[in-house]
Amino acid sequence: MPAADTRQPNHDFAEAKSLAERSFELLIAHRIAPTPQHYAVAYAYASGANAELRATIDQRLRAGRGLDAFLFGELHERFVAIDPYRNLRGVGGNLQQLVESLAHSVGEAGAGAAEFGRALEAGLGHLDDLDADSGAQAIEQVVVRLVDATRSAAQQNDKLQQQLQSTLAETEALRGELEQQRQAALHDPLTGLLNRRALDAQLDELMAVESDAPLSVLMVDIDHFKRINDTYGHALGDAVIRNVADVIRKCIRGADRAVRYGGEEFLVLLPHTGEEGAAQVAENIRSRIHSLRLVRKRDNFMLEPFTASLGVATRLSEDTRETLLQRADVALYASKGGGRNRVTVGGRTVP
Ligand code: GH3
Ligand code: MG
Ligand code: MG
Repeated sequence: MPAADTRQPNHDFAEAKSLAERSFELLIAHRIAPTPQHYAVAYAYASGANAELRATIDQRLRAGRGLDAFLFGELHERFVAIDPYRNLRGVGGNLQQLVESLAHSVGEAGAGAAEFGRALEAGLGHLDDLDADSGAQAIEQVVVRLVDATRSAAQQNDKLQQQLQSTLAETEALRGELEQQRQAALHDPLTGLLNRRALDAQLDELMAVESDAPLSVLMVDIDHFKRINDTYGHALGDAVIRNVADVIRKCIRGADRAVRYGGEEFLVLLPHTGEEGAAQVAENIRSRIHSLRLVRKRDNFMLEPFTASLGVATRLSEDTRETLLQRADVALYASKGGGRNRVTVGGRTVP
């Protein structure tokens, strides 16, 4: 029998086992599938390894909002996953190579220019030796040397030009790659809408830059979505989320922004829009979601119509990002409490 592994003291094992059990229990209690990603988030929470992750989950639990797979996916991306960083490191590596090759080209160009200078000086030195008695042959030799030096300098120049051109093309490609990474980091992969990370920056910007302009936010939450998932399965649930995102996208314009805020929750930012305008957008979204008729392509199976509830809040001068979102949330829950499939604006629920 192999000797027992004595590298890990027993209390470490007991502690890790207890953490593993607590992580698993957290997932099961909230009916979150124990996938490796979700488990990693639960483990980070149970171990307290990441204060921000822990605070985000505690805040949700305190607010009685529950935990779900979407939140865990997002927390995984923000606090646990290393892939985005790996990708960025890849870009960084390419960038370093590029700078090195550029430095090399510039170094070569410098050496070429110095060589040209020396050849010119040598040529000029020979010119000094020339006098009225120098024969045509001597003059020709000097000219040939100068022409050779000039030609080789011109060749060096061409080479450098080519290297610079290709460096420029690579820089453009890298810039594109970085932009793609940046966009991916700000968007939700299922719907293509902005994600929560992007929301914070967008809302801060809107509130700071145009502090006097009217600004409204809508919170949209699909009604009884758990039932949709339970009846049709998670994949059709995802399709419902995507279709609701499409409706929202169609109902907004210009500087408006749509964000996937939670699993089946969305937030719409409406700059330059007061309460009345925001209420119209909200009503348009509500009625279009209610009119959606989704058909599963595979067998033409038609899903039951479904609805969403909305809350509208318009910024008051003393609002912070948190208080504005809080009022939209309160309005949304008034819509839920009032029977769902409705819009609440500043305390008034319609219809
Ligand atoms: P209410 O009308 O009060 O909003 O009820 P609800 O069932 O819509 O709300 P609840 O918050 O109880 O449930 C939301 C469900 O959404 C739970 C969660 O499993 C599911 N969910 C979260 N993210 C996703 C996702 O990305 N895809 C799918 N298919 N389901 C998700
Ligand atoms: Mg819901
Ligand atoms: Mg919800």
